[in-house]
Order: sequence, then structure tokens, then C-alpha cells
Amino acid sequence: MTDDERFMKQAITQAKKASRIGEVPIGCVIVYEGKVIGRGYNRRTTDKSTLAHAEIAAIKKATKVMGDWRLEDCTLYVTLEPCPMCAGAIVQSRMKRCVIGTMSPKSGCAGSILNLLDEPQFNHQVEIESGVLADECSDILKVFFKELRVKVKAERELEKRAEEIDS
Ligand SMILES: [Zn+2]
Repeated sequence: MTDDERFMKQAITQAKKASRIGEVPIGCVIVYEGKVIGRGYNRRTTDKSTLAHAEIAAIKKATKVMGDWRLEDCTLYVTLEPCPMCAGAIVQSRMKRCVIGTMSPKSGCAGSILNLLDEPQFNHQVEIESGVLADECSDILKVFFKELRVKVKAERELEKRAEEIDS
């Protein structure tokens, strides 16, 4: 297993924490000199916060550990391609590298829709590596949404039965 795969595994562990609390499973870790200095997972619904994405949580922790808003020699590992907000925060943090599990065709801003991480007109560009443990990263999302659909269907059937009993 490569270092990138090893740290992506840790991001996957974070993503699984999200799915355990009913959140879309997206996880992130930030690494400096071979050590994890920030972790995060999606808590958008739990925290009722638009900002509670995995990458933002990990950046907050890493900047606290580093005692600096700059994360210049750090690598961010995330299971799903960053959204515009997170891609913006990654550029703002001056992150050196961003390692991505699976791409996000509907919201990704590291190459899918836009590439904010590697925009030559910005004052900072982030190296991108994508497709690291891609299958594992996309499978946890697929399983989550499949289970969600089953749950929604079961709830609908219960409602239908209740209506039939009422009438
Ligand atoms: Zn995001």
C-alpha cells in the first residue's frame, strides 16, 4: 500500500463516521510530514450548517495544530472531489497537494465542473492526484444512498398503509 492509499484509508474511516450518524459519507484528513494533523467528516445535517463539510472541519483542526492559517507543505486527502466552497478553502489555505478518492460530476471543483485548485490566474495552485482508492470511496456513497432509498420507500409504504386503514 502506498502512503497516499494509507492516508486515503484514514479519510474513508472518517467518511464512515458520517454515515453512522446518517450523513452523506465524506471524510478528510490533512497530513504534514507523514503525520495526520487534521481530520473531518461531513456533519451538515447534524450541525445544521452549510459549512460543516469534511474538508472545512479538517482545515480548521490543521490550522489550529499548525498555529498558522497557511498549510503550505500539507496534503489533504478527501474521499470525494471537493465542492466549490471547499476547493476555495483549500486554495486559501495554500495546501500543497490534494488527493481525491472519487470524482463528483455534479459538484466537483477539482476538474469535474471547474478546476479551482489549478487555476493559473489565482495566486496559488494545488497539485491534484485523483482516483486513489476510487472504488472504495464511491462504494461507501453508493451503499449509503441505496440504504437511504430503501428507508424512504419503507416509510412511504407505512404511510400508505396508515392511509388505507384510515379510509
Ligand atoms: Zn465541500
